[in-house]
Amino acid sequence: MTDFQGLKALVTGGASGIGRATAELLAARGAEVAVLDLDPSGVDKPLRAYAADVTDDTAVRDAVAAAAADLGGLDVLVNNAGIGAQGTVEDNDDAQWHTVLDVNVLGIVRTTRAALPHLRLSTAAAIVNTCSIAATAGLPQRALYSASKGAVLSLTLAMAADHVREGVRVNCVNPGTADTPWIARLLDAAPDPAAERAALEARQPTGRLVSADEVAGAIAYLASPLSGATTGTALAVDGGMQGL
Ligand code: NAD
Repeated sequence: MTDFQGLKALVTGGASGIGRATAELLAARGAEVAVLDLDPSGVDKPLRAYAADVTDDTAVRDAVAAAAADLGGLDVLVNNAGIGAQGTVEDNDDAQWHTVLDVNVLGIVRTTRAALPHLRLSTAAAIVNTCSIAATAGLPQRALYSASKGAVLSLTLAMAADHVREGVRVNCVNPGTADTPWIARLLDAAPDPAAERAALEARQPTGRLVSADEVAGAIAYLASPLSGATTGTALAVDGGMQGL
């Protein structure tokens, strides 16, 4: 892994799970890292914390501008903030669809729009979006979430095409079920958490959940100059779930 010495990175949803692991990995490799999150109160130095809701365009613009000013520029944007939803198309009403798409899809649009003027000034500009295997796996009981991540995948490819000649690479990672506070909450809410966990583990050929650090490693690779010729790709981090 190359080091990130001198690079400035902003990670949305960086207060928990995959985002937190990514922010900490980039910082450990020498990057100066800012975290944008609904609730960044638990984020410690050396990470910088900015409170913003990715559904609030003004708050996003202000937070990105403050982060870029404080860091002295922006080389890497990790669009990771996201929320889940369960059910078939009959289970989620229009308001739930709007809420999830607003965070998972438009959230990326807003942070990217705010960050691009800064990224264009960088000689190592990279955007990494946290997508999901749900984008292509056809998972049951995940209609809304899958549609939102399908949009993230398409958006990644379109953004890569739009900005490649400006020197801004855009890729995404597709995690399988990753052991984060999100999944812990999901398991806690299940009638039989142990059985539910076993079912999730059995779904992956490796027989275990993906770790947040493993997803962070893939994000760091796509954010680093090591992947300098790679743009418009989705990197699976799913324990072989879709490939085997
Ligand atoms: P998490 O709940 O542990 O962390 C998500 C973070 O995003 C939280 O800190 C939360 O405060 C923040 N956030 C949520 N809504 C926000 C908003 N409107 N504005 C700003 N911040 C907001 O979740 P995680 O498991 O680490 O998931 C991170 C990303 O990974 C999500 O995009 C998720 O869809 C994706 N993902 C997760 C898994 C998994 O199994 N955990 C699998 C595939 C993809």
